[in-house]
Amino acid sequence: MTNNIVVLGAGVSGLTTAYLLSQDPSNKITVLAKHMPGDYDIEYASPWAGANYMPVGKEGSAHHKWELDTWPALKEITDKYPEAGIHFRGTLIYNRKKDQETDTGKWFSELTQPNPWYKDVVLDFKSIPSDQLAPGVDNGQEFTSVCINTAVYLPWLVGQCVKNGAVFKRAVFKHIADAANAHHTGEKADVVINCTGLSSKTLGGVVDDKMYPARGQIVVVRNDPGPMMSTSGTDDGEDEALYIMTRAAGGGTILGGSYQKHNWSGIPDMNLANRIMKRCIDICPSLVKEGQGIEGLDIIRHGVGLRPLREGGTRIEKDKVDGVAIVHNYGHGGFGYQASFGCAYSAVSLVKEILQNKSRAKL
Ligand code: FAD
Repeated sequence: MTNNIVVLGAGVSGLTTAYLLSQDPSNKITVLAKHMPGDYDIEYASPWAGANYMPVGKEGSAHHKWELDTWPALKEITDKYPEAGIHFRGTLIYNRKKDQETDTGKWFSELTQPNPWYKDVVLDFKSIPSDQLAPGVDNGQEFTSVCINTAVYLPWLVGQCVKNGAVFKRAVFKHIADAANAHHTGEKADVVINCTGLSSKTLGGVVDDKMYPARGQIVVVRNDPGPMMSTSGTDDGEDEALYIMTRAAGGGTILGGSYQKHNWSGIPDMNLANRIMKRCIDICPSLVKEGQGIEGLDIIRHGVGLRPLREGGTRIEKDKVDGVAIVHNYGHGGFGYQASFGCAYSAVSLVKEILQNKSRAKL
């Protein structure tokens, strides 16, 4: 028996889900999306991400499990498939207790605490001795994590899906149920997987008003400082952030950032950009030559992406809309890559439940 499956959305959530499903030859998969890898658009979060694995899920939560389950997959891809555009990278994390109540501090509270659950997951985790910390930093840790070049990794995922027989088509839908009629076989899909990110706020049949953006502004530079770095906050604003990561395979270095909730602007704010660059050089002087400031940065581009946040957390569940079986997998905020496989495993198990019921109904 074959299963006709539509994956709606070609960001990291849709592509990872399609990749897993495509490994079963009985699944005939169509990936439908307005935006595909190669596009840069404010409605498409995935290309803008750093992206790295810096866990933020609270211990004991579903989010914790998704991140925990994602590490082995990312590590395996990094080890076995250098062409996927992921590399291992040293990582430094600095925590200031005074950031605890800010938006950025809350977002990073699990990442920055001295004894996090992920210490047994990432490689070479150790605390930084307090006499090696800068003034004002209360605790710090170092470990080895991964950094993903999204411009290479997303097309790699497309390639894996295509190799396994999945068909990709551009399409824009006003209503989720319409996607069931666009399977490449011409037959109706047995299940539609909704991976539309922030657009789930307005997509007919979903209209999830719990969705909202957290605006992330970045500067991409050619400079390569070495390790990745992140702090619990900055002195420039409660929704500004400081992180540095050099992407694999010539992807440049991402300087971030911001975490501006409910801000929909896709236009880079050049004052914020200056603050981002200055903060990064302050914490990591080796970004530029000795004595240089911002003028020592070789800028590739400024960028803005909207992290698809959801009040109450990521939605991974079954639904039925106008008679069409749906599995939702959206609302991944600032952790869509580092939770990608964990979330996709959960979505795939719901798809399997729907397909089993279909088989039983046909007996
Ligand atoms: P998206 O990438 O937004 O994809 C949505 C897809 O649905 C697109 O293909 C779109 O065209 C399609 N679509 C939507 N509506 C329709 C419609 N009506 N019809 C047809 N198609 C439709 N995460 C990490 O894990 N690590 C990081 O280091 C990290 N850094 C980040 C830095 C920044 C600056 C930003 C902005 C995000 C970062 N993230 C990071 C978060 C991560 O990028 C997101 O969680 C993730 O990209 C969300 O992916 P998605 O596939 O759910 O949504």
